[in-house]
Amino acid sequence: MTRPQRFIDDEGKRLDGRKPDEIRPVKMQVGVLSNADGSALVEYGLTKVLAAVYGPKESQKSISLPDRASLRVRYHMAPFSTEERKNPAPSRREVELSKVLRESLEPIVITDYFPRTSIDIFIEVLQSDGGTRTVGATAASLALADAGIPMKALVAGVAIGKVDNVLIVDLNEVEDMYGDADMPIVAAPDLGQITLYQLNGVLSKEEFHNAIDMAMKVINKLVDIEKETLRNSYKEAGEE
Ligand code: ADP
Repeated sequence: MTRPQRFIDDEGKRLDGRKPDEIRPVKMQVGVLSNADGSALVEYGLTKVLAAVYGPKESQKSISLPDRASLRVRYHMAPFSTEERKNPAPSRREVELSKVLRESLEPIVITDYFPRTSIDIFIEVLQSDGGTRTVGATAASLALADAGIPMKALVAGVAIGKVDNVLIVDLNEVEDMYGDADMPIVAAPDLGQITLYQLNGVLSKEEFHNAIDMAMKVINKLVDIEKETLRNSYKEAGEE
């Protein structure tokens, strides 16, 4: 992958034809796996992430909490998810992402309903083209709801970046790799809460405020699509 000379053309369009504030085509499905308690497949463009949830189930003593369920998250990239085969062993990056994704999901799960249990969330990147942590958070939120786990709200994620001095939403891999900033955000609009915030690169104060506004607009839309996806899955279940 080489660095493009320009990221935005004279008409203000990005390399893949999107406007700066346009997200990639989004697809969401729930109940895609029969053996997990809840599951979801989410795509933003070419990035595809599967999430599976098991639990709440009685937890091992070592991780058991007396007043609430413990959430365990594993973020993993499948060996076939990248252009070159990825080593299937968990990398430092995957261990760290598992931690920050757990922290991004903890505020939405009503864990005190289920003391001494664990809820396991597996986030498996099937195809990566930028934004896998944010797509992963969206998929995990849907899979938790699909598992019937009581939640305060849903979260969704998107990354904001900067290329050619323009703020853009939902970076693909080229924009992520060669752009000037990468700011992934996960938020629960119904709680007014940002649950994951990271920033690689430098933004001015004004850019930072604009970037948060851009992210929240997209996250609101994504959460609406999540709700619609869940409603449709109940309708389908009712029709069976
Ligand atoms: P995110 O996927 O959340 O944007 P990064 O910013 O770390 O996370 O990664 C950006 C993109 O770089 C990923 O979406 C993926 O397309 C690519 N990438 C990350 N890690 C690897 C890897 N180990 N091998 C190949 N490509 C990778």
